[in-house]
Amino acid sequence: MPNQKLRKGLLFTSLLLFPITLNYFSPYVIIDGAMQGIINGSFIVFILLFVTSLVFGRSFCAYLCPAGGLMEFGGMVQDKKTKGGKRNLIKYAIWVPWLGMIAIFSIIAGGYTSINFFHLTDSGISVDRPEAYIIYLIVVFLFLVITFISGKRAGCHYICWMAPFMIIGTKIKNYFKWPSYHLEADSEKCIECHLCEKSCPMSLKVTKMVQKDSVNNTECILCGNCVQTCQQGAIITAWKWKKRIK
Ligand code: SF4
Ligand code: SF4
Ligand code: SF4
Repeated sequence: MPNQKLRKGLLFTSLLLFPITLNYFSPYVIIDGAMQGIINGSFIVFILLFVTSLVFGRSFCAYLCPAGGLMEFGGMVQDKKTKGGKRNLIKYAIWVPWLGMIAIFSIIAGGYTSINFFHLTDSGISVDRPEAYIIYLIVVFLFLVITFISGKRAGCHYICWMAPFMIIGTKIKNYFKWPSYHLEADSEKCIECHLCEKSCPMSLKVTKMVQKDSVNNTECILCGNCVQTCQQGAIITAWKWKKRIK
């Protein structure tokens, strides 16, 4: 069973390190790299997010993402559920044009010709000058505001440019069902107390998914809160697929 203290400790540590790591998750630095034909840190990080999601799904979001930590801890102050649904598609309306821009700029630059992990981050630390500090504060403000207005981890649902990489990876792993980290549900054990749902940081309709014997939603970040909350053992984490996904 996932250890929630460890998970939140890792998330909090990642949040504290956000002033150092900001550029490695930046949607802008990768564009600047593309314009100069440079494979930079965020390019490598986004590829790694996709590759790791083929085995671990969206665990990065649950354990390591500083913005995720910001929103999850922010959501503890204001415990509003995020509506999700079709609004979750907003992030693709951001992601597709953004990817297109990266592709076009890299083609105009004559393709990628060099690798510099520290492109635009010469010192290795993202927030190393006053202008960078202002950008950092704007990012923090943006994620906190969307959490307070739209609910728990709303930024993950609606605006995150990194989530689609992991969602695609998760869809692929769930389709091929190779051994990978996922949840299994047993509807016969469920007493419909809805406690799992209340504990879900992604505001997912967990009880309904358990009733269908499938808790593998691409918005699920595999935090394991529902597993820990369910006293009936109706949800477990697993590596091997035991049940058919509906
Ligand atoms: S969805 Fe985006 S912001 Fe949210 S935890 Fe995942 S990577 Fe971070
Ligand atoms: S906490 Fe367990 S028993 Fe209660 S609704 Fe969720 S899966 Fe069912
Ligand atoms: S469904 Fe469970 S594992 Fe997935 S995000 Fe919600 S609480 Fe976490």
